[in-house]
Amino acid sequence: MPRPIINEEECSGCGVCVDACPNKVIELVGDVAEAINEDDCTACGDCLEECPMGAITEIEED
Ligand code: SF4
Ligand code: SF4
Repeated sequence: MPRPIINEEECSGCGVCVDACPNKVIELVGDVAEAINEDDCTACGDCLEECPMGAITEIEED
């Protein structure tokens, strides 16, 4: 299953990825984005493209 990997050190908590994700995979927990609903990720890449901090990378799990 694909899932977004968020680098907490790079994340500014702007929330852009939360709004960018069509499947509501990401939520802000405190000031950091977290992949809450990983099972719903389709690897569309929108969060990765929209993150102004380059804090998200996409990987594919077996
Ligand atoms: S890759 Fe797409 S579906 Fe997956 S978390 Fe990012 S925006 Fe959401
Ligand atoms: S778009 Fe990037 S910097 Fe903004 S909350 Fe999401 S991961 Fe963090």
